[in-house]
Formats: sequence, structure tokens, C-alpha cells
Amino acid sequence: MPLDGMVAIVTGSSRGIGYAIAKQMGLQGARIIVNSRNEVQIRKAAEELRKEGIEARGVSCDVHIPEQANLLVEAALEEWGTINILVNNAGINRDKLLLRMTEEDWDQVIDVNLKGNFNCTKAVARSMMKNRWGRIINVSSVIGIMGNPGQANYAAAKAGIVGFTKTVAKELGSKNITANVIAPGFIKTEMTKNLKDNVKEELMNRIPLGRFGESQDVANLAAFIASEEASYITGQVFVVDGGLAL
Ligand code: NAP
Repeated sequence: MPLDGMVAIVTGSSRGIGYAIAKQMGLQGARIIVNSRNEVQIRKAAEELRKEGIEARGVSCDVHIPEQANLLVEAALEEWGTINILVNNAGINRDKLLLRMTEEDWDQVIDVNLKGNFNCTKAVARSMMKNRWGRIINVSSVIGIMGNPGQANYAAAKAGIVGFTKTVAKELGSKNITANVIAPGFIKTEMTKNLKDNVKEELMNRIPLGRFGESQDVANLAAFIASEEASYITGQVFVVDGGLAL
């Protein structure tokens, strides 16, 4: 299997896109650290993965706190002695138009979506450098490319991920570590389920492929980028959006 023997940390993998990535990588042979802030949900997700025959360990922590991000790496090293793949997927939104957006809305989204990415990447870097092999996959959004009313904080964080990833790709490339971005469009998850029907309809009209995305659409690409077959691909932004951003 393409990811046999690999160890992957997938942040924000108790549900949605992160869970689908964890499962897809697990089905391709990887051992998985599953993560979110919610202990109960994490235990459930790890149990679900084990039922699929996947080796999984749950670690509940908040990625925006550096000491907690380190726990993910410590758990992977303690359990399996190495770490090969990091998927920075944990993310939140606090949508409001600019004039209504509070400093707290801004800080929370930047902290989790951008600083969380930095914390986890820094935490895994040393181990990957020692191995002279690594895959870092950062989940951004088409909103970081296009902008969107009501999402100034989210768009800024997601655009920041692109610059961050390209820099990591340049800094760590000589150690055979790749860093790439996946920018999903509208994917059916908890995050998007409460959007108003008229907003959903308007979005649907702009998607050439005529459907909203599934978490699996993102997971398929993530597993490919993590594989040996993607060894000459780094610093790239891959949009998975059915053509929405065209
Ligand atoms: P989701 O269903 O809300 O899942 C988010 C996951 O992140 C959950 O497991 C959540 O669990 C976890 N999480 C949130 N804050 C965290 C923190 N501080 N530390 C650790 N885990 C945390 O969202 P999703 O739609 O699957 O989104 C996954 C990623 O894709 C996000 O980065 C999102 O911005 C991006 N994305 C989504 C879409 C979309 O249309 N759905 C489009 C573009 C990009 P807890 O809350 O229990 O911690």
C-alpha cells in the first residue's frame, strides 16, 4: 500500500475533512494520530478508525497552544518512534462583516488557522529533518485566494497559510521534506452545514461541476501528496473546488 509504515498526524480529525483524510491515509497503510480539542469525540474517531483496521491513537489538544501542539509529536514518537506526515487541517470560522468583527473574532481565527499551522509544523520539523523525509500538507481554502464578504479573518489566515507553506517548502526542501497546500472550495461538513439556503444556492450556481464537494474529494488528494509518487511536488497550491474559483 502507498503509505505502508508511515506515521501521520492529522489535526482537527474528529470529523469532516480531517477525519476523511485520516481514514484515507489509514486505509493506505499509515498509522494515524487523530486530534481535536474534544476528548470524547477524539476517542470515538480513533475507535471508528480502528474498526476499519487502521492503527490510530487519539490525542486531544488545542493546536494554537505551542506546548499542546508538541504533545502530538510526542505521542507519535512514543507510540511509533517516527513521524512522516503532518496534515494541518484544524480550522474554525467566526464570520462577520468587517465593521462588526471583533478583535476576539480576528485573533481566534488567526490563532487556530494560521498559528496552529506554525506550531505543528515547527513541532514536527526536527524529526522529519533527522529522517531526511517528510510531507507537510496544509489545508487552506479558496477563500484565501478569492476573499469573501464576512470572512476577513478567515481569508487572511488561509492566505497566510500559502505564504507560510511556500517558505517551509524552500527552507526544508534540501532535507527531502515537501510542503504543499490544499485549498478546498465548498465541502459538505459541520463548518458549512448552517449556511443559509440562498447562499448555498448562489454558490451552487457558480460551481461548474454542479455539486458541492465531499470530504473524500479532499482526502484523495491529501493521500496522493503524502505518497512517494508525489516526491517531486512542493510549494504548490492545489484547489479542490469543482471549478468554483475559476
Ligand atoms: P469541521 O467539520 O468544523 O472540523 C474542524 C475540525 O477541527 C474538528 O475536528 C474540530 O474539532 C477541529 N478543531 C477546531 N479547532 C481546533 C483546535 N484549536 N485544535 C485542534 N483541533 C481543532 O470543519 P471542516 O469543514 O472539516 O474543515 C477542515 C479544514 O478545512 C479547516 O481548516 C477549514 O477551514 C478547511 N476548509 C473547509 C471547507 C469547507 O467547505 N468545509 C472549505 C475550505 C477549507 P473540535 O472543535 O472538537 O476541536
